[in-house]
Amino acid sequence: MELDQINTITVLGAGNMGHGIAEVAALAGYDVNLRDINDDLVQDGYDKIEWSLNKLAEKEAITQDDADAAIDRVTPIVDLEESVEDTDFVIEAIVERMDIKKDVWGDVDEYAPEHAVFATNTSSLSISEIATATDRADQFCGMHFFNPPVRMDLVEVISGAETSEATLDVTEDLAEAMGKTPVRVRKDVPGFIVNRILVPLMNEAAWLVHDGTATIAEVDSTTKFDIGLPMGSFELSDYVGIDVGHHVLDYMHEELGDRYEPCPMMVEKVENEEFGQKSGKGFYDYEDGDGADIPMDETNAEVKERLLAVLANEVAYLIGDDVASASEIDQAVKLGGRWPKGPAKMTDEYGLNKLYTALESAYEDTEHARYEPYEAFESFVDEGFYGDSGADEEGEVDFDTLNLHYPGDKVAHIELNRPQQMNSISLELIEDLDAALDILEDDDEVRAILMTGAGGKAFSAGADFMSIAGGGADPFGAVELSKFGQETFGRLEEIEMPVVAAIDGYCLGGGMELATCADVRIATTRSNFGQPEFNLGLLPGWGGTQRLQRIVGMGRAKEIIFTADHYPADEMADFGFVNEVVEPDEFEEEAHAYAAKLAGGPPLAMRYTKRAMHKGWDDHEAGLEVESMGFGHVVNSEDVHEGINAFFGDGKPEFQGK
Ligand code: NAD
Repeated sequence: MELDQINTITVLGAGNMGHGIAEVAALAGYDVNLRDINDDLVQDGYDKIEWSLNKLAEKEAITQDDADAAIDRVTPIVDLEESVEDTDFVIEAIVERMDIKKDVWGDVDEYAPEHAVFATNTSSLSISEIATATDRADQFCGMHFFNPPVRMDLVEVISGAETSEATLDVTEDLAEAMGKTPVRVRKDVPGFIVNRILVPLMNEAAWLVHDGTATIAEVDSTTKFDIGLPMGSFELSDYVGIDVGHHVLDYMHEELGDRYEPCPMMVEKVENEEFGQKSGKGFYDYEDGDGADIPMDETNAEVKERLLAVLANEVAYLIGDDVASASEIDQAVKLGGRWPKGPAKMTDEYGLNKLYTALESAYEDTEHARYEPYEAFESFVDEGFYGDSGADEEGEVDFDTLNLHYPGDKVAHIELNRPQQMNSISLELIEDLDAALDILEDDDEVRAILMTGAGGKAFSAGADFMSIAGGGADPFGAVELSKFGQETFGRLEEIEMPVVAAIDGYCLGGGMELATCADVRIATTRSNFGQPEFNLGLLPGWGGTQRLQRIVGMGRAKEIIFTADHYPADEMADFGFVNEVVEPDEFEEEAHAYAAKLAGGPPLAMRYTKRAMHKGWDDHEAGLEVESMGFGHVVNSEDVHEGINAFFGDGKPEFQGK
């Protein structure tokens, strides 16, 4: 089946996940049959969808008309046959019980049209086994949304033993049509990708405390402030629900053996019904205590190594068994777990050989199966895969949301690459930009950065509200998001080499804030600028209240932000924001030429000039100090020698940065 043949989607189960999935499907324009076992349950799910859509409209993430149209597309149904008889795609999100799921799927198979594709949202059960309840295992797969579906971008699309490629393809297409990012899980392994990483992490954290290696405070301090995950391991357990993590672990234990033996600390918590945040108490006390109050200064190097070693083992298994590639694993965990960096990248950077040795010696010390290295891990290390930066042979690095190219002339080209979303800035894009800057900062060959947007419509049309609308119990709240964006954009502004933002199309909101961090901006005549945050009742949150006024003056900055209007490129050039306006057909050539010209400049003088200018903005004296220090440093450099020789010799200087 092809995507364009899907008009009606049935969602079975109107609970937590079911109502969210139905909402996302309705928002994407599909007719949705929402089914639960009685009127009250299905009505409750319907009401929740209506409430959530109205909330989105209130926040102006969608229009009220869109919200009304979406709810009109949802039909609550109790009769199973009626819910599937005319459907094209069935997504099942009923209780996590194999017997009940099989019963329901047996009936669905009988009533649904032959062409209909079936998907289960199970978190932990075997897709292949559920599929045996139907006569169309080739048309059956896993479609694992994350909670809450409206906000979480990731969908794991999981192959059962007999799932056809066509089924996986159309399911991925559907996930994309719903505005989600699908990651393919090629085998139906317990935990799929994200839980396969997160659940052993939470278990290992508990074992470390159980064994007396560390305290909860040390483990969480390490997880959060040294490894850099959004939450401590125990905090995550409490957030997800200790019972939920334990349930997945139990299943893995049953299927895969003692490697996944749940730590007695977790078992005890579940027995005492201390499930975490939802029950008021878990590893932390949320009612009578301060909740997860994690110290910043109790990080512990041994804890870090153990946790990373366990992660590396899982990553190696997933790659070695051909469940997913390193970049697919990273993408899934970054989106599903909101990690700033994927586990493959993280463990690569630490050094796989070091982690392998740590795992082996923990295995020797404890003889616990959880430290037994998977064969795949052993062979990675034997074959000398000690970790790398992810660059391919040409040295290009493809992140999920941007590409880093090296087009020559010592220019590095960052291309924002979410063309379907007008290169809007998601949390992941900020993370990828952060990682790209890590690479560029260490690269002596790069002398200038060119930044553009893919797709020919926009440099970047702003922040991606659907992916970042935070708040509530969201682990990545709005303040942190603003700060993370400010810091990363700030890194771009402060980087030693010159940065050229080349703009063709929309450059709005967060996109304009990003362009503001460049040293120079060139734009096509058809480009359009603005800070429309006020239209949403928001304010610029990624440095826009500070940087824009430095370039255009406070009066114009206030005008641009307060009016929330769009401004054409030539007007922005008059304001001094755009340095050069070019015709669209000359754009690429001009953009590269501009960056190449700046790349030919003297790196040392560039470094100190940028530093002195930035420093001196707030503090004139400090700026002058940097200027004179820089001058002293540069004056005897080889570059100055080269510059003077070239000046008298009539040639072009070749600066080396020395
Ligand atoms: P839930 O308990 O909130 O909802 C389940 C719903 O299914 C209930 O409304 C129940 O009445 C209904 N149901 C039970 N039997 C049914 C039947 N025979 N036909 C139709 N509906 C029936 O559970 P949930 O958290 O939404 O989880 C649903 C599924 O999604 C499970 O398979 C779970 O593993 C998976 N999942 C959950 C999460 C999560 O974070 N909660 C995340 C990803 C996947």
